[in-house]
Amino acid sequence: MSQSYESSNTWKLCDYGGAIKRWTSWTDSNPGRRFEACENNWKNRGKGHYWEWVDEEICPQGKEVLPGLLRRMRGMEQELNQIEEDNEGLKDKLRAIVQENKELTAIVGRLGRQRMKMNEKIMVQKCPDLARLAPMRSPTGAKACF
Ligand SMILES: [Zn+2]
Repeated sequence: MSQSYESSNTWKLCDYGGAIKRWTSWTDSNPGRRFEACENNWKNRGKGHYWEWVDEEICPQGKEVLPGLLRRMRGMEQELNQIEEDNEGLKDKLRAIVQENKELTAIVGRLGRQRMKMNEKIMVQKCPDLARLAPMRSPTGAKACF
């Protein structure tokens, strides 16, 4: 973007009827310099449409320094956008991993309960007296049989 629109001074009109608005140039030769122009032809001077600078021309030192600073700023904005995009991607991956973790935890819980039941069956087969005792859930109670 080499120009930006600033305010809506729409009370002035160009000879061709277009609204005259205030803009800011961000070109290398006029960085930050404001101008007023007809909204129908603000990108080009001439052709009869209204177009005038508001600010004086920028000093030589400013012309030398500002474009480089603007390029660095835009580069950093692009990097920031990329980082935010990457961050969103990582958030999606994290959500998927959390969901997968919940599912795996549920499976591990089910398998653990199945294993306990199978251990109880095995103990009962090896030591039939256990089957007559009150609900035996602790494997330690079966140790006497082995
Ligand atoms: Zn005009």
